[in-house]
Amino acid sequence: MKRILVTGGAGFLGSHLCDRLIEDGNDVLCVDNFFTGSKANIAHLISHPYFELLRHDVTIPLFVETDRIFNLACPASPIHYQHDPVQTTKTSVHGAINMLGLAKRVKARIFQASTSEVYGDPEVHPQHESYWGKVNPIGPRACYDEGKRCAETLFFDYQRQHNLDIKVVRIFNTYGPRMHPNDGRVVSNFIVQALKGQNITIYGNGQQTRSFCYVDDLIDGFVRMMNSGPEVTGPINMGNPGEFTMLDLAEKVLSCVGGKSKLTFHPLPIDDPKQRQPDITLAKEKLGWRPQVTLEDGLKETVNYFRNALNV
Ligand code: NAD
Ligand code: UDP
Ligand code: UDP
Repeated sequence: MKRILVTGGAGFLGSHLCDRLIEDGNDVLCVDNFFTGSKANIAHLISHPYFELLRHDVTIPLFVETDRIFNLACPASPIHYQHDPVQTTKTSVHGAINMLGLAKRVKARIFQASTSEVYGDPEVHPQHESYWGKVNPIGPRACYDEGKRCAETLFFDYQRQHNLDIKVVRIFNTYGPRMHPNDGRVVSNFIVQALKGQNITIYGNGQQTRSFCYVDDLIDGFVRMMNSGPEVTGPINMGNPGEFTMLDLAEKVLSCVGGKSKLTFHPLPIDDPKQRQPDITLAKEKLGWRPQVTLEDGLKETVNYFRNALNV
């Protein structure tokens, strides 16, 4: 049994990760300030003898004993991370420093939930880990993108300077049950809109692309990465290489939900990346990982979840 700290453990990805780690027989400490996460996401774990919940903000130092750290704390949806952009940068940067300081003190292996946003609005397609990205350092997405880039810098400097055992994963758009219904991300927006019979909000002309990974596939990748040998530090891309326009996605959601929602077109947010698709060669080679769940199957599960959660 390992003692594992999960920051952001009450969020969408964090709560699925806590489930998996408990299932695998670990002792899990979930740390969260509930900015975007909720107790409801982990309510079913509270009475488990090897699960513990601590309300704490990772920008403040934390002194606990642990064998491994998954650092996921950070709002992930554009409307949430832009709500208090200074706090977003602090969460990524001060949060990384504190968790790295903790890892250094207790000699824990530490995992960072980085993001495809480090590639910005990419000119190289699909994105390979060797691409350095095209990020606007002063735009509205910068608090998140640059915060995550700086966190990667800190991880690699702690490795070089203090010999830390690090794991950095660049996550591409992931969806599934427990996404926040109002967090503004495209999959949850389209599903909630379709279920409520509201118009589907397409930003721009809907020709921009994303690649959508189902949450169970991603969590399996996290665990493989954490269990890999110390030579596998990353950064390593994790996502589903299937690439879809937002119009394709709207069509798939509508055919899954049914109903008579219409498409409406709205301005494209500033610096919205035009295309995104992971090159997952490295994850296949180093971890034997590849996603298994198709977009159709994953959408079905997610639609079922929202039907129950919203009672529609
Ligand atoms: P989420 O918003 O559901 O989860 C983030 C969690 O972190 C929430 O529970 C929130 O309350 C917590 N948190 C935020 N600031 C905190 C702070 N200062 N101290 C303690 N807790 C804090 O988002 P998610 O989709 O689960 O994302 C989890 C991680 O994965 C994030 O780091 C995100 O950047 C990364 N990521 C997610 C995706 C995706 O598509 N879901 C893509 C790329 C990267
Ligand atoms: N830190 C923490 N928990 C620990 C050890 C350190 O939160 O168990 C914090 C510590 O407060 C510091 C940061 O991690 O702000 C970085 O620690 P490090 O030892 O790398 O740097 P230093 O303390 O020398 O600035
Ligand atoms: N998007 C959209 N309608 C929505 C929400 C988002 O067309 O209601 C678009 C958004 O402009 C972007 C894509 O969907 O091009 C993915 O947006 P999301 O916020 O989910 O993730 P990110 O932009 O961070 O990849």
